[in-house]
Amino acid sequence: MTDADFTTDIYYDDDADESLLADVTVAVLGYGSQGHAHAQNLADSGVDVIVGLREDSSTRAAVNEDGLEVATPAEAAAQAEYVSVLVPDTIQPAVFEEIKPHLEDGNTLQFAHGFNIHYNQIAPPENVDVTMIAPKSPGHLVRRNYESGEGTPGLLAVYQDATGEAKPKALAYGKAIGCTRAGVVETTFREETETDLFGEQAVLCGGIAELIKAGYETLVEAGYSPEMAYFECLNEMKLIVDLMYEGGIGAMYDSVSDTAEYGGLTRGRAVVDDHARENMREILAEVQNGEFAREWIAENQANRPVYTQLREAEKAHEVEAVGERLRALFAWAEEPEEESEDDERTRVQAD
Ligand code: NAD
Ligand code: MG
Repeated sequence: MTDADFTTDIYYDDDADESLLADVTVAVLGYGSQGHAHAQNLADSGVDVIVGLREDSSTRAAVNEDGLEVATPAEAAAQAEYVSVLVPDTIQPAVFEEIKPHLEDGNTLQFAHGFNIHYNQIAPPENVDVTMIAPKSPGHLVRRNYESGEGTPGLLAVYQDATGEAKPKALAYGKAIGCTRAGVVETTFREETETDLFGEQAVLCGGIAELIKAGYETLVEAGYSPEMAYFECLNEMKLIVDLMYEGGIGAMYDSVSDTAEYGGLTRGRAVVDDHARENMREILAEVQNGEFAREWIAENQANRPVYTQLREAEKAHEVEAVGERLRALFAWAEEPEEESEDDERTRVQAD
């Protein structure tokens, strides 16, 4: 398959000109999952980087340990021509107010997710470029893949092109963090935001967690042991998903028994049936018409009452207790990987 077979453009190292960042200081705001990876990869690529964190942030020590300069978001933005906004999405509008006075003609304001721009929570001035480079992977992999010489696929989008160079500059950034090694796909803020929200709600986070719990509950309700139900519905999920990741749904069906394949082909559609598909369309409509965004913004303004309660309830589900017990007992349970430094950092939350 060649690039011509894709409807979107895909960019690689040869398409990016890193000299566009040669005389530029990049402010990386936030040093969490994405921030620490972008900042370190940029620095290793020879780009001048300054990290922006609050004065009282406990993460500041980690930035210094990694040999990078740290300042407040406002100070960092003042020094920089290129500002990469990598604080949590819910905090970005407030941080934007702090940096706004320091955005000058021709500067770049860059995001790794389109939520705040697409849903008008941030209104950038007209004289700056507004772009997105969004690695399609958690930050610790963005760092690890860069160090190992591999890359991390990413998305590129241009919302506002004030300089006429917004896209080549974003590509230069994408190259500096290792994304053009693997391929950068061009999209729009709208498409990235809406597909991302839909995917995490219907399939990746919400869909899969409910599928696991429903399967587990069905077996336990029918008298089977919780341990068997856990292995069958949760533990094996990873093995099946790994096969699909490597070779698609077909490779998964090739690897399982004919009985499993026939059962899946005839019964899967009964679980994710027309009704489930109708629900997916409704979820997508609420993403598209802004209803989900409004709800989530209001939830944050009210200090997250629903979120907090649902989160506690999810933790209290029996499958979690069973899993914790079994994972502690069995050697097959994957230990958290040794890149503990990075892992620590991926766990750093808004502090
Ligand atoms: P995170 O929660 O891991 O890290 C946030 C960082 O912001 C932390 O270092 C925290 O100390 C800092 N911070 C919090 N409040 C701050 C404030 N008021 N001022 C300055 N710094 C503050 O965030 P993340 O997951 O890396 O997400 C960053 C962006 O990247 C988001 O737009 C997200 O949607 C996007 N993104 C994340 C992933 C991922 O896998 N985590 C993948 C693609 C895109
Ligand atoms: Mg500036």
